Amino acid sequence: MSRQEIAAATGLSFATVANLVAELLEAGVLLESGHEESKGGRPRAQLAVNAQRGALVGIDVAETSVRVELFDLALTALRSVSLPLPQAGVSPEEVIATIAAGVEALMDDTNSPPPILGAGVCVPGLVEREGGVSVFSPYWSWRDVPVRSLLAERLPMPLYLDNPLKASAVAEMWFGAGREVENLLVVTLRSGVGVGIAVDGALYRGATNSAGEWGHTCLVPGGRECRCGRLGCVEAYVSTRGIVETVRELDERSPLLDPEEATVVSSVARAWTEGNPVAVETVTRTARYLGLASADLLNLFNPQTLVLGGWVADCLGEPLLRQTREVIAERALPATLQALTLQLSNVPGQPVTLGAATFALEGFLNDRATFGAVAAGRRAARAAKGRTS
Ligand SMILES: [Zn+2]
Repeated sequence: MSRQEIAAATGLSFATVANLVAELLEAGVLLESGHEESKGGRPRAQLAVNAQRGALVGIDVAETSVRVELFDLALTALRSVSLPLPQAGVSPEEVIATIAAGVEALMDDTNSPPPILGAGVCVPGLVEREGGVSVFSPYWSWRDVPVRSLLAERLPMPLYLDNPLKASAVAEMWFGAGREVENLLVVTLRSGVGVGIAVDGALYRGATNSAGEWGHTCLVPGGRECRCGRLGCVEAYVSTRGIVETVRELDERSPLLDPEEATVVSSVARAWTEGNPVAVETVTRTARYLGLASADLLNLFNPQTLVLGGWVADCLGEPLLRQTREVIAERALPATLQALTLQLSNVPGQPVTLGAATFALEGFLNDRATFGAVAAGRRAARAAKGRTS
């Protein structure tokens, strides 16, 4: 788009846009991609992100695997690799080694690897961003693991640590439903469950970056045991593990059951289309749990849009959405419902790795070093001008 179009879209003055664009051009982040005729005036330069300027890495550490994805500077996905993690009691060293192996595999895949400008790393649970520390991960009972400094010994690039709920919300804000609205909730349903929150167009993190741990709010007093050690958490009902539990409650010998929790969810989705009674009832109960828990969220936040994402939503899709909507309609307050759009995630690709790469891009753009040469060049130019005048 042209500078004029950017000014119109952002509400910034043309002069401000021109200054910022000049810096971004000089830093190689943008390039002029052509010219567009304008009525009566000079042709307008068309600007584009310089995708070849460097690469960004998005890393999603999930319970059973690590996914590493390489993006260009325009955040187009280039290549990805998924590596399995050992089944139980995974140590930080094993996760660090797996991440490093994933990044190396992607780099080995090409003859001339692009310079990597940064990597975003998402680990489940509570994360302290500034220090790059995994404060608590319920999956592996990690406490205060300095993930970023451990990784820095293996990966020579700027590293940004966060959690998958925040990454999913940012992916939705940049590439999905969040492009259209300012107040957004992004529910992630997979091994872990939680919500990413955007308020007035900005990601809401809370005092210690732990906002959104909705998976561990109580849905059923005295209910199912949750991994966090408490009883009746939302996560114990609507995560992949929760769905396995629901199938087991309905029929403990169901052929839908499988050692892999993720496989059970995709089997339920397939069996639902064939009218399998256990699958049909599992989806109905899951929607009931999800609708009740979501109605509370909606009454609290009054968002314009609630997005359902993650493996469970990807597999169960429309049937889950439709039935959840019915439960929400019974439970949420009328004023809350009036403003609400409920939808499945439409982010292209994998939201967590995309969001993680977005954190790396934000880091790169916020890094003074990116524009250090530009600023130094301007100072030198000003000084030279001062001497001649
Ligand atoms: Zn819990």
